[in-house]
This record gives sequence, structure tokens and C-alpha cells, in this order.
Amino acid sequence: MRLQTKLIHGGISEDATTGAVSVPIYQTSTYRQEKVGQHKGYEYSRSGNPTRHALEELIAALEGGVKGFAFASGLAGIHATLTLFKSGGHILLGNDVYGGTFRLFSQVLSKTGLTYTLIDSSESAQIQAALQPNTKALYLETPSNPLLKITDLKKCAALAKEHGLVTIVDNTFATPYLQNPLELGADIVVHSATKYLGGHSDVVAGLVTTNSPKLAQEIGFLQNAIGGVLGPQDSWLIQRGIKTLAVRMQAHGKNALGVARFLQAHPKVDKVYYPGLESHPHHALAKSQMRGFGGMLSFTLKDEAQAAPFIERLKIFTLAESLGGVESLVSVPALMTHACIPKEQRLKAGVSDGLVRLSVGIEDMEDLIEDLDQALKG
Ligand SMILES: *Cc1c(COP(=O)(O)O)cnc(C)c1O
Repeated sequence: MRLQTKLIHGGISEDATTGAVSVPIYQTSTYRQEKVGQHKGYEYSRSGNPTRHALEELIAALEGGVKGFAFASGLAGIHATLTLFKSGGHILLGNDVYGGTFRLFSQVLSKTGLTYTLIDSSESAQIQAALQPNTKALYLETPSNPLLKITDLKKCAALAKEHGLVTIVDNTFATPYLQNPLELGADIVVHSATKYLGGHSDVVAGLVTTNSPKLAQEIGFLQNAIGGVLGPQDSWLIQRGIKTLAVRMQAHGKNALGVARFLQAHPKVDKVYYPGLESHPHHALAKSQMRGFGGMLSFTLKDEAQAAPFIERLKIFTLAESLGGVESLVSVPALMTHACIPKEQRLKAGVSDGLVRLSVGIEDMEDLIEDLDQALKG
């Protein structure tokens, strides 16, 4: 089955008992047992629910994993995954990961005795330099957030493997439609399904998958033991979103490239960060490991102080956190998604106060460009 077909027919795509072409929402917490311990595969919905199970099989099929796991949010999935590592362990963490992921490391996991070193994962020499005897994992995002840096997954995963590290990749920005980290050597893929997989800004969810049977067994244990599972209604919404992922990602990519080209040519714009632009320093790498460049981009204005008034003048782009929905959104990472990162560290990672991030939706490209144009004129 090819990718676009798999989005619709992969995993469990219909109901075995009724033939319903949409997996029903099994709104139940428990299941009748024929005899003690004798059941039809489900005992209690934290441990397993047929609607959630269908979504879990789907993400595994799309990413090339052996098993999938659905959580109540991206962060719940990331947290459960990171509880694989014991106190005293050390993790190499990409320095421009999602702000909430950084907060999880710095304010939650640090209390349990897990330490980390921030690295620019797009420079593999930094990985080598930051290794410690107790380093257990490499955690990264590519394209990264909000600067759209690209990490060479094949190279980094091979380097990590050499040192016995588990490579974990947050594939939220690319989605399995554009990139499959497990095929490039990663061990675990995490997603905020809230974004492109759901695709309609109406549900919060997280997905995790791995191609290692041992890690799958451990993550499955943690999912049930910690309990941050996704409910059946939300599992159904994510499955519905995934069915149209191909057409949406194609439209996001086309619009984002058009918007990036417009911004790049605009006299008031300083830098544009979009991996689909030939001028992006990692364009060739992005081309080699991705099947497209996605819908996220960021840019700076020559006059940083104009960023806030520019945003206020926008009419179609909505000022909001989040990304990956059909509607275009705009945000200022330094003040919004990345506000929990100390300023000095944020600036060091290149996230300036005037950096504007766009989640380019699937509206008419001409309307998006006209909106940006009028807001830039001021
Ligand atoms: C939003 C996001 C998360 C967190 O996911 P939630 O569903 O909001 O918990 C993690 N990683 C990336 C890249 C994100 O954009």
C-alpha cells in the first residue's frame, strides 16, 4: 500500500463487527468478560479501547512502527516516553525544541534526576562533544521550531546508535506524509497530533510509535501505568483528520512556498526561514530526507519593533498559539510558545523577540499574500 492509500486504509480502518467504514466511537470504560479473565481483547479502556486501538495501529502503519500509542496530548506522550529513562540518566536535547518540551525537561524531569544538555542537533559535531558516560538518548525536532532548522536524521541516528543512545524524533512539523524518522534510523517517533494529524484545530492529542519491540513493550507498560490515554471521541477525530492528511499537506506546502517567496522579496522583511527556499542553508538536506517542506515558516522584519503592529493589522492570519490547522495562524514564539525558555538561552538559539512564525493554512494563497502585503504596508 502506498502512503496516500495507507492514510485512508492503513491500520484498522473499519469496524470488524458491523462493517462500518468509519471505526465507531466505542464510548465505554469497561467490557463484559465471559469468564474470569476470558474476554475479547479489551478489559478496561485505560488499557485498551477499540477506537483508540485503531488510531494506534494507524500511526504505527504510517511511521513503520511495530505498535502505536495514543495519549491525551503531545506532551503526555512525550512525558510517558521520557519516563523510559532512569534517574541519573542524561539526554541530549535539541536547543530549539517546542517550548513545552523544554519546560518538561527543565522543570519536571529535572526533579526526577534526569539531566540534559542542549545542543544544535543540526550540527552533528555538537552531539559528539556533549556525550557523557551516562547519556541515554538524543531528543530532537526536524524541522525545528520555530527556526525550521533541519537535522540530518540518518547521520545523527547512526552516531547515536554507535554510542548506544535511543534516538527520539518529534515529527509533528513534518508529519508521516513528509518524513519517516524510523526509516532513517530513529528509534521512537512522537507527535503532537493536535497539529497537522488532527488538522482542524479542534482536538488535543499525542501519538508515539517505535520500531523496537522491546521499547514498544516498555512504552505500552508506561502508557497504562501512568494513564494519560486519549479518549475514544478524540481518537476518532484524529483518525478522521489523518484521512485527508495528504491533500492538506500538499496544499499547506504549496501555500507556504508562495508566502515564503513573497516575504523573501519584500523590502521590509529581513530573514525568511523556510526549508523549501533554495536560500535555506539546509534546503538540500531537507530535499533528501523529506517529501516536501511543510506549512511552517518564520521570518523577521528589518525593524523588529514593527512585528507587533504588523501582526495586529493582519485580518486572515489569526494570532494564536498552535499550528497545523486548515486556517492560517501567526504567533510571536518569544512571547507565546517559547516564553517559558529563559531569554538568554532563547536568543542564543536564534529566537529573537521580533521573530514571527506563520502556520500557513489552506486558504487561497492570493488572499494570504494580500493580507501579509497590506499588514506590511502599515
Ligand atoms: C504542540 C507541540 C507539542 C506539544 O503537544 P500538545 O499536543 O500541545 O501537548 C510538542 N511538539 C511540538 C513540535 C508541538 O508543536
